[in-house]
Amino acid sequence: MKFLCVDCDEQMIFEERQLPGDGTLAAVFRCPACARMTAMLTNPMETQLVSSLGVKVGGRTVPEEPFEGIRSGVASGRDDAFEETAHPDGTQRVTWSVDAIDRLGNVPSFVRGMVKKIYSEYAKERGITDITPEVMDRARTDLGLEGM
Ligand SMILES: [Zn+2]
Repeated sequence: MKFLCVDCDEQMIFEERQLPGDGTLAAVFRCPACARMTAMLTNPMETQLVSSLGVKVGGRTVPEEPFEGIRSGVASGRDDAFEETAHPDGTQRVTWSVDAIDRLGNVPSFVRGMVKKIYSEYAKERGITDITPEVMDRARTDLGLEGM
């Protein structure tokens, strides 16, 4: 994530970050040429998304712990929106280990179905029938999904 000063076409420099503790995140960026300041504010859900994708703000990963409560609070979305159904052509199904499902629980509920589908497709393409955290690690590396 980068901010550019429109007038100067300069990349703005990260100035300060605040985590007020209520799940919101405020970051300030400054243009090195004209000193114009821009602030980025995220609501708790956006902060959670940024933090669970491992996006670095100001060179450091946003700590995850303060958001655990929020995460479980909003994790009530439908997990089965993209649930696998047996294909009519007899394509194999994949099963998820308990640990893998646990890991999936760290993904925000509104993208979980999509992430699950990505891992399922990855497994099927490689003839993997059981998805474990190890398979997820491999998929992330192979597909460039670091942090998911
Ligand atoms: Zn500027």
